[in-house]
Amino acid sequence: MKLNNLNDLFLHELKDLYNAEHQITKALPKMMEQASSDKLRSAFEMHLEETKSQIERLEKVFDILGEKASGEKCKAMEGIIREASDMMSEDADPAVMDAALIASAQRVEHYEIAGYGTLCTFAKQLGIDGEAIGLLESILSEEKDTDMKLTQIAESSVNTKAEK
Ligand code: FE
Ligand code: FE
Ligand code: FE
Repeated sequence: MKLNNLNDLFLHELKDLYNAEHQITKALPKMMEQASSDKLRSAFEMHLEETKSQIERLEKVFDILGEKASGEKCKAMEGIIREASDMMSEDADPAVMDAALIASAQRVEHYEIAGYGTLCTFAKQLGIDGEAIGLLESILSEEKDTDMKLTQIAESSVNTKAEK
């Protein structure tokens, strides 16, 4: 795919995130299984549902732009998830595992926040359809909320248990 202009780059980034979200829907159930904290497990569960809906919203964005919904392998997400899997295979105390799961999940969210932040900025610059921008902004805000919720779970309970 030749990148001639900002619109080409926008589509490239969109495909990257579309693929990343698919990878995340496969990783989150495994992280749920490993979580001991009920709060953490339900946060993962809720974000899995949000992620499935984000994929649908991205498909709507492709549709609005008249493009076929397709992904391009996000190697960064592959790496972040591989690290998370390695961590999950460690023999860890349950509370320490929870802290590690949060550390991994926040890496995922930060990658997404960077990606969707860029997409929203490009979309505005390009003057793309307002509905598509709204969809991307709704995803960005869910990623930010998830990141904050994970911080809150870590600071309010998980990290203290893991310390002992
Ligand atoms: Fe997402
Ligand atoms: Fe990527
Ligand atoms: Fe996310």
